[in-house]
This record gives sequence, structure tokens and C-alpha cells, in this order.
Amino acid sequence: MKIQEIGEFQLIERMNRSLQKNEGVVLGIGDDCAALKLSSGCLLIATTDILIEKIHFHLEQVTPEQMAFKSLAVNLSDIASMGARPLYALVSLGIPSSVSVEFVDDFYRELGESGKKYNVAVVGGDTSSSKSGLIVNIVLLGEQKEELIVRRSGAKAGDSIFVTGTLGDSAAGLKVFRTGKDTMAPALQKEADFVLARHSFPEPRLGEGKFLAENRLASSMIDLSDGVASDIRRLCEQSRVGARIFADSIPFSSEMKVLAESWKKDPLDFALYGGEDYELMFTVAKKDLKKFGELREKLHIPLSCIGEIVKEAEGISLVKDNSVSELGKTGYEHFRNK
Ligand SMILES: [Mg+2]
Repeated sequence: MKIQEIGEFQLIERMNRSLQKNEGVVLGIGDDCAALKLSSGCLLIATTDILIEKIHFHLEQVTPEQMAFKSLAVNLSDIASMGARPLYALVSLGIPSSVSVEFVDDFYRELGESGKKYNVAVVGGDTSSSKSGLIVNIVLLGEQKEELIVRRSGAKAGDSIFVTGTLGDSAAGLKVFRTGKDTMAPALQKEADFVLARHSFPEPRLGEGKFLAENRLASSMIDLSDGVASDIRRLCEQSRVGARIFADSIPFSSEMKVLAESWKKDPLDFALYGGEDYELMFTVAKKDLKKFGELREKLHIPLSCIGEIVKEAEGISLVKDNSVSELGKTGYEHFRNK
């Protein structure tokens, strides 16, 4: 069904059907603004992300469910990296006339389901027709007590650098996606499915981020959106420190390693320079390592120490095969040709 056949008001009504409120929503969709509660003593944590057709995705290659999930997940990952709890989302869509009502229905159904899973209420947004492809913008609001928020700026020389999960899966997934899974050997299909899922449905590390914050274990934190090489730089710039990354300590999934081998690529490149893993990278001060060691099992996901924070003057380096080199290459950066 074409959107012109039902018009904007009916479209919005259909969108709202998939969404539910939570207890903090005093005024949700329907008034000029949403009115929302925060827990007492908490700061409002706000983030936003925009996805534009032909820049961030190709409409013929993604399902509405993938789009809805991932656009929410990348924002949730930012909330996780602050150690905060997500609460509310504002979702805006620019919709070209080629997009069907069913696409929007499926998008909102997934948004409703993911919202339920992660406890996020969609409380507003905007829709418009678009002459330059589909545009998805999500504003995500969360909360955390001021003294518990984990910043990028808290790392100190001597801190250990940790990451959650395994790295490089998403970049390998993107490669499978571009190559076409069907063109790959039957023996590699299981691995291909694994990395594709990691690329399309990255699990935002909300529980982990909040746990680290509330137990005051992390001195700084960032989510890995552009690869370790880029994101460690961001963290180091804000903290005015340097870092040493140990190549041998970077955690890989067995699936990604098998695929990288089949492509004759170094799995390290996927982890360092590929993006969109949405794992957390955080630092732990020496004095907190013992407590961290005692509590880390409660997180039930692998945590790996991949390096250490050093003085700013020492720069950012990679230690590999007993040699130290500058970790200069960056991951994907917008508005910049590599
Ligand atoms: Mg981020």
C-alpha cells in the first residue's frame, strides 16, 4: 500500500499502535511535547543518531526490522557507554514515496518490540515525505546519577584497558554482506550467519555498562562504533593520555577467525579498523583491579584486557610480535577520504 493512499494522520495512528508507554511517561504521543519523569537525583543523558539512505544503508539490502533494531541499538550503545539507563526515544522518519505502508508498519512493530526488550518508550517524533531517500533519526534519553556517569575523560596512566565480547565480527559481517553469502563456500555458511547477525543485530551492552558504573569500576568508557584504533584515540584525547594496545590480547570469535583466514586477511584488521561492533571499551584503575576481578564474573560475557593507558607524550601504540608501532590508522570517518 502506498503512503499517499492513507495520509500522514493515519500513518501516525498505525505507528502508535505498535508502541507502549512506561511508568515515567506523563504525556506521550498526542500533545505538543512529551512530559517525562526522571528518578530523583539523576541527570538526563541524551544522544542522537541519524541514518541516511545510500550513506549508511541501502534500502534494497536491509529489512525494516534490521533498520529499526540497529537504529535503536546504536543509540542504546551510547547510553550504555555512559553507564546510564535508557528511558525514552523520539523517532523521526523522512519517507520517500517509494516506501510502502507495510515497510513503516514492520519498522514500528520492531521498534515496539525492541523498546519493550530494552525498556524504552517511544514518546514522540516526526514524519515527513523525503525526496532524498529514507532518513531515520532517533533521539534517545536516559538517566543516571551524576556521580556514577562514566565519561571518556577519566582514564589515567597505569589504568588497564578492557573490552567486552569479541571484536571485528561486525566488519566481517559487512564483508559477507557485500560479497553475498550465497557466493561463499557451503562450509563457511555457519560462520557467515554468525557475523551477519553480529553486524545486523548488535547487542547493546546496557547491563554491562550500568554494572561497571554502579560498582564504580570503570575510570572511563566509550562504545566501539568505529574500531579500536579510532575509538581509543577519542578516549585518549578526552583523557589527555596515551595508550598501548596489545595485538595478541584482542579477542576474536572463532567464526570471524575462520572467515578472515579464508579471505587471507588478518583478523586484527577487522578489530582495529572495522567498525560497528558496539562493544564497550573501558579503563580500570590499578586500585580497582582487585574488585573488578572479583565482580567481573557477574557480567557473564567475556571481558578482555587489551592494553594499558600510558602518558600522553608516549602516544598511542600497538604492540605486536615484540615490536611497538604507532597505532595511527583510523576507522571509518565521515567527510574524510581515506
Ligand atoms: Mg559512542
